[in-house]
Amino acid sequence: MSDDRLTHDEWAKAVRDGDLLGQQCDECGAVIGSPKAACVECGARALETVSLPTTGTVYTETTIGVAPAGFDGPYRVAVVDLGEARVLARLEGDAAIGDAVELAGVVETDDGDPAPLFS
Ligand SMILES: [Zn+2]
Repeated sequence: MSDDRLTHDEWAKAVRDGDLLGQQCDECGAVIGSPKAACVECGARALETVSLPTTGTVYTETTIGVAPAGFDGPYRVAVVDLGEARVLARLEGDAAIGDAVELAGVVETDDGDPAPLFS
């Protein structure tokens, strides 16, 4: 069962291809928006890879005032509610909490990991 668990690399490749992958717990049905070794709700390790919607609403957002090295200026991060799952994402434009947003691309972060970009 664990052999086909979603890996971070697979998740990252999918994001770069414009697809959001998550995991659904076989035990409790929870949907998780980023690769995990076990269900965040019940701890079960039987997780199935699922495709997540690429549209959602802004659940929370905040502006990071001091950008890490390699980035210009402040940027915004948001938790985007996709319905069953929530994902941490970058936010462009002026979407506020509760506004509808859609996947607009990907941002490569300083540590080499992509972050989904919503606008
Ligand atoms: Zn679970």
